[in-house]
Amino acid sequence: MSSIKEYFSQVGQGLKSLATGMAVTGKEFVTPKVTEQYPENRATLDISDRFRAELTLKYDAEGRHKCIGCGICQMNCPNGTIQLTTKMVELPDGKKKRKLDKYMYDLGSCTFCMLCVTTCPQDALEFTNDFEQAVFTRDKLVKQLNYRPEVPDAPAPPKPATENNDNK
Ligand code: SF4
Ligand code: SF4
Repeated sequence: MSSIKEYFSQVGQGLKSLATGMAVTGKEFVTPKVTEQYPENRATLDISDRFRAELTLKYDAEGRHKCIGCGICQMNCPNGTIQLTTKMVELPDGKKKRKLDKYMYDLGSCTFCMLCVTTCPQDALEFTNDFEQAVFTRDKLVKQLNYRPEVPDAPAPPKPATENNDNK
């Protein structure tokens, strides 16, 4: 007698469990879908401004950055992601001044800790939220961030993140 009771009790528990599962499934069935269809949705894709995708120098409207080549960001970077060199230049008044020559950044080793940005005394750095950084070889992840506007035929400063997706 007790085994029949036990049998029906277990059947009841099974049905209850099934009903609970079906209730969860049913709720999800009528909930609006949030799945993003990437890359078809590129035009409407909303990436948070705070997302840290790639380090860059800030440029003003004339294409100039504020980096003075002090090297603080390089010293504070925990894994050698930043390698910069400086050079001496002669000013119009004849005085010599140390200036940034090359600012090299290895996206492949960056941990996005942002120590470089927060410790820069010139507020010269920022992170873009351009997340599409896939390339076929690691050497393409090493980028020169400064574009030396003082050199007449120097390349233009980087385009805004959304226009700069050619994986160069
Ligand atoms: S980015 Fe800032 S911390 Fe780094 S070298 Fe330039 S001025 Fe100095
Ligand atoms: S975010 Fe961190 S790891 Fe990346 S370059 Fe800056 S200090 Fe180095």
